[in-house]
Order: sequence, then structure tokens, then C-alpha cells
Amino acid sequence: MTNGCDLELINLTKKYGDALAVDRINAHFKAGQYVCLLGPSGCGKSSTLRMIAGHEDVTDGSIVLDGFDVSYLPPAKRGTAMMFQNYALFPHLSVRDNAAFSLRMKGQDKATRYAVADELLEMVDMSALADRLPSQLSGGQQQRVALARALVTKPKVLLLDEPLSALDPFLRVRMRTELKKLQRELGITFIHVTHGQDEALALGDELVVMNNAVIEQSGPARDVWSTPKTEFVARFMGGHNVITFEGEKAALRADDVRFGAEGLPATITSIEYQGAHFALNTRTQAGEDILALMPDEVFFDTPKKPGDAVSLTWDEGRLHRLQT
Ligand code: ADP
Ligand code: MG
Repeated sequence: MTNGCDLELINLTKKYGDALAVDRINAHFKAGQYVCLLGPSGCGKSSTLRMIAGHEDVTDGSIVLDGFDVSYLPPAKRGTAMMFQNYALFPHLSVRDNAAFSLRMKGQDKATRYAVADELLEMVDMSALADRLPSQLSGGQQQRVALARALVTKPKVLLLDEPLSALDPFLRVRMRTELKKLQRELGITFIHVTHGQDEALALGDELVVMNNAVIEQSGPARDVWSTPKTEFVARFMGGHNVITFEGEKAALRADDVRFGAEGLPATITSIEYQGAHFALNTRTQAGEDILALMPDEVFFDTPKKPGDAVSLTWDEGRLHRLQT
């Protein structure tokens, strides 16, 4: 089931005065995908999302939704909806009235707007608390109400700006499962901004990695993680070593590094137990740090300690060159 529609960003640009926050980015998101927009703080994620939502003027370029240029339409006319970082629920309105708020603004009668609001509160499992005020809810419950409120206008694209960052780690993981399930049920496009690579990998069908106002790399989550194109993406996504090989920078997955009889000589600098894995930091004679991640039973076969000399090996073809 697909209720969404294609979204295209064409040379989309945002300047605040002279400061370039988003620099001619291009992207095409197919209908019904869970897209995660990630990158370090200040790289232009929120500006991009707010332009798509219509909460920020486009400086240059355009936003095309379902074949129509929506760049200059007011937010309510775009077919998008946004869920904010700090939920921004109205404290004096009940859960039901919060959820129905946009429909009241559109002048719909009470019976109609409550019917739609109740349907969405049911979907996010908040029906039982429909008469409560936001202050009587937990963080996770407020989150669900904010979701219902954003979805009440039946958007084709839901925009979420760091929706899980205010939650404690346990709840964050639970809520991300719920978000993914909801997106599947609705079949609409979600564009979810996060600065966490774990969250992006857990949720995203497509990842868009931004850095310094541009898109460094985008594509299916697995491609971005397993084949980073640049040193920035390799380091930001984690799990990779960036090493100098034959005079060029190359990426090597930490879980592809093994200790062999012969290979690149290195010394173990530290060892960290991570449950299922051991993380072994090593330093080569050239002074490069290389991380090896190995399953606990492999580690216990031939236990190592800091200061031990090792030879680092990996299978042919596992090292891939990075663009400079
Ligand atoms: P992110 O969400 O990735 O952290 P933002 O899109 O919020 O990044 O910000 C991108 C850049 O634009 C930053 O340098 C930020 O300081 C700047 N910026 C964001 N909003 C404004 C604003 N309203 N006025 C001026 N500069 C802004
Ligand atoms: Mg932001």
C-alpha cells in the first residue's frame, strides 16, 4: 500500500544572510519510503526539513511533491506535516483537542474532527487517555499525541525533526520501533532528521548523509553503511577504519580486521569488552590506529592484552578506496 508520493529537492538552497546553511542539494525520494537525514549538528538538516514543510523560505531551488512545485505554498497546502523536536503540545488542550487542532483551524465541525482525531489516537494507542492534558502524560505518550496531531491532516509526507532525542535510551528504542511500524501501516513517506547513525540505520530505507550544507552521500541504508564514499561518511557512520594504503585513503570495516600469522604489524593499545564483541584498538608502525571488532569466542580462542604485538589481515577486496 502506498499513500505517499515522490518528493524531489532540486538545487535546494538556504542562506541566512550571508551564511549558507543548505547549498544546492538534490534528492529524489520515492513514495512510501522511510528516509533518514543525518549528519553532525549545524550541517543543515533542520533547515532542509523546514523548507520542505514550508516553515522556512526557500532561498533558491525548488521542492517538487507529486509533480507539483510546492516551494512557495503555505505549509497547510503542501501535503506535508511536521512533528517538532519539542512536541509543542498545547498545555491547556486535551489530548483529543490537541490531535484535532489542525482540523479546527481548517474550520471542520466538532463531530468530524473528533472522529478523525479518535481514529489516529487509536492508531498510536492513546484512545484511553484522550481526555487528559499533556502535563498528565509521560514523554512517550506526549510523543504519540504529537504524532497523531501531525497525521490528522492526512499528509503525504511526514517530517520529523529529531523526534526521539528527548526520550531516555530505553524509550527511544521502543518508540523507534513504533515509528517504523506506523510508517509501514500508513504507507506515506517519512523524512526523519537525526544526528545518530544507529537510529538512522535502524529506521531508514534510504539514508541522506549531510555535512557542511551539502549531501555527502545518499542511497539505501546498507549501501551507505557498507560502502562509504568519503572519509567523512566512513567516520560518521562508524564501524570503519580509515587507513592509508598505497598512498591513498581507504575504508576497512572493523569487523573485517583479523589477527593472522603475517600481515600489517601493529601493537594492541586497548581492549574493550562490548558483550557480544571485543573492540581491540591497535596502532601500526606508521602510527595509524586500526580498530578490530571480533566476536567474543574468537577473542577467547587466543586472548590478547594491551602491548601485545599482532599482525593485521583482512580478506582481499574488503578494503575500498575513498574519494578525496
Ligand atoms: P542542523 O539541524 O543540521 O543542526 P540547521 O539547519 O539548524 O542544522 O543549521 C544550519 C546552519 O544554519 C547552522 O550554521 C545554523 O547556525 C544556521 N542557522 C539555522 N537557523 C538559523 C537562523 N534562523 N538564522 C541564522 N542562522 C541559522
Ligand atoms: Mg537541527
